[in-house]
Amino acid sequence: MKKHNFYAGPSILPDVTLEKTAEAVMNFAGTGISIMSISHRSKEFVAVMEEAQQLFKELLNIPDGYSVLFLGGGASTQFAMIPYNLLNKKAAYLNTGAWSKKAIKEAKLFGDVDVVASSEDKNFSYIPEGFKIPEDADYFHITTNNTIYGTEIKYDMDSPVPLVADMSSDIFSREVDVSKYAIIYGGAQKNLAPAGVTFVVIRDDILGKVDRAIPTMLNYKTHIEKGSMFNTPPVLPVFAALQTLRWLKEMGGVQEMNRINMKKAGMLYDEIDRNSMFKGTVGNKDHRSIMNVCFVMNDGFEDKEKAFLDFATGKGMVGVKGHRSVGGFRASLYNALPMESVEALIACMQEFEKNNK
Ligand SMILES: *Cc1c(COP(=O)(O)O)cnc(C)c1O
Repeated sequence: MKKHNFYAGPSILPDVTLEKTAEAVMNFAGTGISIMSISHRSKEFVAVMEEAQQLFKELLNIPDGYSVLFLGGGASTQFAMIPYNLLNKKAAYLNTGAWSKKAIKEAKLFGDVDVVASSEDKNFSYIPEGFKIPEDADYFHITTNNTIYGTEIKYDMDSPVPLVADMSSDIFSREVDVSKYAIIYGGAQKNLAPAGVTFVVIRDDILGKVDRAIPTMLNYKTHIEKGSMFNTPPVLPVFAALQTLRWLKEMGGVQEMNRINMKKAGMLYDEIDRNSMFKGTVGNKDHRSIMNVCFVMNDGFEDKEKAFLDFATGKGMVGVKGHRSVGGFRASLYNALPMESVEALIACMQEFEKNNK
């Protein structure tokens, strides 16, 4: 049976990424040896790194003055690396979910943290609005897409201080005005590559403003100066990321991806709103994520949760169980998820309604 992969992360990647990476595991770039066994200083791998950085810049339309880094440690290491490099006295954070909270916790190790607004009062089911970003903060940190709660900031906000964004789960899902951000970072395992590589897009001139000593590996300058090759980069995940970036370009780039993503998410949200057995957990349509769609059983049907999960699993749906802090269901609609998988899930919901009403 065909499987429809809705996992939130690690998650679905384009078939071509898997095929090309599998090939390279056996014979990389005609060298006769594996991508796992070749020096990262070889000309073949250096070419991979350079093309990946170049395509990243091209696809996101990154202006001059920014570097693209591929680091280890996951997005979670960035939670500490950002304040280590940028926080002198005070940083401002928007608290929109579990990942924001983890980022806030790390920043507190380095200075004052001003949480300008939070949606925790309603289990992070909305994006706070009307908050004021303090002008004396060293930077303002946001999580653009809340993978667990299914909310998303789908626009590029103006900030009087350097804007830092965790885009782990919505990178390349829409066009971004990179010039409004000082740092964009994320774990690659949601929309780009296998786990093991973290992307960091950083404006070079924001560095050098803190007094503390920074360990070499946690200093962005180290990696900028060495073109992300100071130490051994995650060679295989970077290779896979390059295949996804090439695929993205061939698909028509981020603008076209966004058009498809809006269509996929729109169809599923329409069904959730229409189907009497389900309801969305994010009420405000402007705040609904186009990447992670969260929904639960509607009032009166709560006892059918397991039955629907079993039914959907029997029809080939994989990874639709909601995160334990929200419950219900979560369908992650990353770039590589085909339209037919969304259609299959919708058909499943309709059939379940017919059988159970
Ligand atoms: C998955 C995720 C993270 C954590 O990424 P790791 O690479 O596992 O550290 C951070 N932020 C967001 C928004 C995520 O979705």
